[in-house]
Amino acid sequence: MKPTIVLVGRPNVGKSTLFNRLTRTRDALVADQPGLTRDRHYGIGRVGDRDYLVVDTAGFDPVAKDGIMHEMARQAEQAIAEADVLLFLVDGRAGRTPHDEQIAARLRRSGRPVHLVVNKAEGLERSLASADFHALGFGAPLPVSAAHGDGIKQLIDLVLAPF
Ligand code: GDP
Ligand code: MG
Repeated sequence: MKPTIVLVGRPNVGKSTLFNRLTRTRDALVADQPGLTRDRHYGIGRVGDRDYLVVDTAGFDPVAKDGIMHEMARQAEQAIAEADVLLFLVDGRAGRTPHDEQIAARLRRSGRPVHLVVNKAEGLERSLASADFHALGFGAPLPVSAAHGDGIKQLIDLVLAPF
């Protein structure tokens, strides 16, 4: 059985870029406008002889009550329910935000394994990113650069290890 890896995080942290990196496709829509990826996107990835399913979600707002933000949140909730493991992406350049903290609270309640991934970490001091995001409560953050491919092999090896 392929484990299902679900990417979650606020808009613009680089979920779709990581999706493309993990699936080696251009399926996900990468854009500068936050929240442009409105549908879930599914892709198959492979490392060595191990297949996995990746789900890209729109950046979601757990407290959105109506409109497109609500629909995005609903789809993200559905994806979380289907996840074997969650990758919680944050932006190493922006630092920790209140929206990250809201999402952290939601993910803690999911009961699913969560890996905290600090994206856009190319050229960043590792310890700086770590101290800020450690407070989200998911252990040591894993630095990656989805755009440049740094840290991706280590990430996927760690994420797939229990499966
Ligand atoms: P999403 O809204 O979370 O799906 O984010 P996207 O994947 O659409 O990326 C949002 C923006 O961040 C785009 O301009 C990407 O080019 C940029 N981005 C994504 N990954 C990286 C990275 O590793 N480093 C840097 N510097 N920018 C990145
Ligand atoms: Mg996206």
